[in-house]
Amino acid sequence: MRAADIAGDLERVLVTDEQIQDKLAELAAEVDRDYAGKDILLVGVLKGAVMVMADFARHLTIDAPMDWMAVSSYGSSTKSSGVVQIRKDLDTPLEGKHVLVVEDVIDSGLTLSWLLEHFATRGAASIEVLAMLRKPDAMKVEIDSRYVGFDIPNDFVVGYGLDYDERYRGLRDVAVLARHVYN
Ligand code: IMP
Ligand code: MG
Repeated sequence: MRAADIAGDLERVLVTDEQIQDKLAELAAEVDRDYAGKDILLVGVLKGAVMVMADFARHLTIDAPMDWMAVSSYGSSTKSSGVVQIRKDLDTPLEGKHVLVVEDVIDSGLTLSWLLEHFATRGAASIEVLAMLRKPDAMKVEIDSRYVGFDIPNDFVVGYGLDYDERYRGLRDVAVLARHVYN
């Protein structure tokens, strides 16, 4: 669906599907160059990163294996605590791999910071981050993210994999959710 299909649920559109695809093509060209001849592994964090991973991986011209993790972070539904539990681990050993973590959004950065430290103990040759969205004003820990799609304001957004209560993940655009939806 597009933002126009559910306009009543949205406050404003921040990034359109077209902008996302153009940006992913740009980032993929960079990753193609940076990882040429390297043993890359794309790691996605379920479920939010599904859309970014699917589109980004198809913009690449190098063949990049994918693996997935599911984590839950303790805290309320809108704030993450940084305490993370692995609910589904990777199937691939990381030794010698050039890991590129593909993320939907860096919000507080707490989940990602925990994951990066955790991966570092598993023998990866390198670990970098690609994030479609980043909220600079929400970040509580510094995340050195090599590839970033768009910096957005510190608002609760949905679409392109991001949900509110499992809804709106299939929205092609990224938009600020209208307050009446969660009030
Ligand atoms: P962080 O640990 O605070 O950086 O955020 C971890 C996860 O919270 C992200 O990967 C998203 O799944 C979710 N999240 C953060 N901000 C939003 C948002 O604006 N809308 C929907 N989900 C979000
Ligand atoms: Mg979520």
